[in-house]
This record gives sequence, structure tokens and C-alpha cells, in this order.
Amino acid sequence: METQAVALGKVEKRRAVMRFGSSWRREGGTAMVEKLGKLLRDLPRKKDQYGAGEKLGKVVGAGDLSDVLYALQQKGLGRVTVVQESNSHLVLKVENCANCQVAESNNGCHFTAGYLAGALKACGKPETTVVSEVSCGGYPGDTCVFMASW
Ligand SMILES: [Zn+2]
Repeated sequence: METQAVALGKVEKRRAVMRFGSSWRREGGTAMVEKLGKLLRDLPRKKDQYGAGEKLGKVVGAGDLSDVLYALQQKGLGRVTVVQESNSHLVLKVENCANCQVAESNNGCHFTAGYLAGALKACGKPETTVVSEVSCGGYPGDTCVFMASW
């Protein structure tokens, strides 16, 4: 049995995110899902997972909402559909959520939430946009529902 992972320092955390980010630009599918698992182990705190997702979401270069949804799917993180939309919020359903599959403890899909927030901001939603997970499918990766509001 592996003992509790040693907490990474600030620099190592940033490196872990950068490493993940460069694969993110090139790869997709299962490879990315495995790497996400490693990233989440390196960043056990919810805040850091959300932050990493948000950073990547911002650089994905999404033009509009359908690009945001497509990018997530193409990277193997899940199949996203819009459940509800208004001028101040958006409810998204992620099927086959990879974040759940790889999260070791069932503590929610903070990376995916952050990713959605970053990508939505990048495609024109206000800087105040926050995404929270309304319901989590949990291990082994089912359907999660996220709510974005701004
Ligand atoms: Zn979830």
C-alpha cells in the first residue's frame, strides 16, 4: 500500500499543471484520463484542482459554448450536454465523467468544474463566472451535473 502522498510545494504544483497542460494540447482520450488521475493525486486540494482546470479551460481557445463542450469531450473528460440555459446561468450534464473515474476519494469533480468555468470565461462569459457541481455521479464515473452562474 502506498502511504499518503507528500504534499507538493507551490513550484512543483505549478510544474505538475504545466506538464499536464502540454499533454492536454496534444492528446485526448484514455491517455488524458490517466494523466488527469495523476494530476489530481499531485493536487489533492479542491481549490488547486479547480484552479488547474480553470487555467486549462482558459487556454483552450474556445470560441463559443459548443466549442467548450466539444473540447471537453474530445479530451476524454466526458460527454457534455446543456440541460438549462438562461442569461445568468447554465446547467450542464457530463456523462461518463472522467473526473469521477480518477478521483481517488469521492470528493467531487473540481477539475471539471474549474475547466468549465475557465472555458466559459474564455468564450465571453463574465469574469465572475463560477461553476459548482450540483450532483456527482461518483466512482466509477457516471453522470455529473454542473451549474455555471455569473
Ligand atoms: Zn462528479
